Amino acid sequence: MDAAVDALAALLRGPVLRPGDAAYDVERATFNSAVTHRPAVLAGVADAADVSAVVAFAGARGLPVAVQSTGHGQALASADGVLVTTRRLRGVHVDPSAATAWIGAGERWGAVVAAAAEHGLAPLNGSAPHVGVVGYLLGGGISLLARSHGFAADRVRAIEVVTPDAVLRRVTATSEPDLYWALLGGRDNFGVVTRVEVELVPVTRLYGGGLYFDGATQGEAVLRAYRDWSAGLPEALTSSIAFFPAPDAPTVPEPLRGRLVAHVRVVHTGSAEEGERLVEPLRAIGPRLIDTVAEMPYAACASIFNEPAHPMPYDGETVLLSELTPRTLEAILDVTRPGGVPCIAEVRHLGGALARRGEAPNAIGLRDAAYLLGVLSPLRGPLTRDVVRPVHERLLTAAAPVTVGRSLPFMGPSGERAPGAGPEAGGETAADTAEEAVRSAYEAKDYARLRALKATYDPHNLFRHNHNIRPA
Ligand SMILES: Cc1cc2nc3c(=O)[nH]c(=O)nc-3n(C[C@H](O)[C@H](O)[C@H](O)COP(=O)(O)OP(=O)(O)OC[C@H]3O[C@@H](n4cnc5c(N)ncnc54)[C@H](O)[C@@H]3O)c2cc1C
Repeated sequence: MDAAVDALAALLRGPVLRPGDAAYDVERATFNSAVTHRPAVLAGVADAADVSAVVAFAGARGLPVAVQSTGHGQALASADGVLVTTRRLRGVHVDPSAATAWIGAGERWGAVVAAAAEHGLAPLNGSAPHVGVVGYLLGGGISLLARSHGFAADRVRAIEVVTPDAVLRRVTATSEPDLYWALLGGRDNFGVVTRVEVELVPVTRLYGGGLYFDGATQGEAVLRAYRDWSAGLPEALTSSIAFFPAPDAPTVPEPLRGRLVAHVRVVHTGSAEEGERLVEPLRAIGPRLIDTVAEMPYAACASIFNEPAHPMPYDGETVLLSELTPRTLEAILDVTRPGGVPCIAEVRHLGGALARRGEAPNAIGLRDAAYLLGVLSPLRGPLTRDVVRPVHERLLTAAAPVTVGRSLPFMGPSGERAPGAGPEAGGETAADTAEEAVRSAYEAKDYARLRALKATYDPHNLFRHNHNIRPA
């Protein structure tokens, strides 16, 4: 094997690393540092030819292949197989006349937002500028403009991908409709994407920001008001709410320090006057610790969620809901109450354009979901998975009667859970539900088609260190 790896290293422009190599730890690092890869071979690919060579190497030896860009959404730690890291596949090339961009698989959304803004355009990026472009798109991509513009994956025009047979293909909805359909939703089950072409939208400004309330004293009122308010909003307004314990640290804005915070995030693409009128019922709840909702350039959109950019170990789960029930709201208040296991609970308002299919079909389903519910906790010291998961399970169980499936873009390392399958719900044991958990992120007919296409494109399941879709 060593000689074969040396031969691979001689072929590649990017580095090939093994355990013990000085750069191995830096290259395998993840944003969620609770997922620790230990691949036998780590290939830091520099171009599409490198990717083909690595996939051919792995295929010849039956070694499982996993893909990582930023490590924000790793499903499984890669062990013993080959981990392809894409961070060297750079480049954002905007075509202003066509309102499109070709983006290298190693890019993050912040770079695309900046490049598009130079031409009065915007991509359908998510809340954090440090999330990788391709992982986000292959999971659907619930953007800041989700309710007005739909899934980001619906605006992918072309995908360059090295499939499990090591062939580089340019895939569009018309040139390879099956593979195009499967890649957008199938994540890395169908190969390593090297570049994508996306449509951009003519958005240069918005009325938005964050309303930060005191979660301990106003949390219940804010949460109930949010549910009633969000149910009647136009598609031009995309919003979410998160409850989080703000650390008592100098890096945190003074008004939030040491408090449970209820943070409503607002993005309105209509006029500032209309936005102000729409947000008024939330402001009427009472004083805000901080209120940043105002007219802003789209390029400043990362400030709306203002999520931490530094890696940390965490565990969590995200599901899709048909409605926000009183029981779910009570459970959010229960699990985020100060004094217990620290939990961040988040609700994102879906619907609007997300519910409609794009022009070119893809495997992103469950589009009728009205809300997304996420919960996560840091893993440190006594806060182990065994400690935090039962608390998360309380929330997931409360929401189980209205849970329609798992959220594809946010499927993280806890892939062995199926909705409602926790011990309180009388569900199966974790090991039994892994396949069920993946299945629950898709419509039944789409899942069956994905399995059939997996048998065509990856019959030996080379790409299996992921949320695996097993070949039919
Ligand atoms: C702080 C934070 C904020 C987020 N906000 C949003 C949001 O607003 N909206 C939303 O929809 N999602 C959001 N997500 C979820 C995010 O979209 C997923 O975690 C996504 O998978 C991250 O992709 P990545 O490339 O950065 O991560 P990685 O961990 O590097 O990749 C995740 C997965 O994507 C696939 N993948 C990545 N690159 C390739 C490639 N080149 N070829 C094939 N497969 C590949 C693989 O399956 C890989 O396991 C957020 C996540 C975090 C941590």
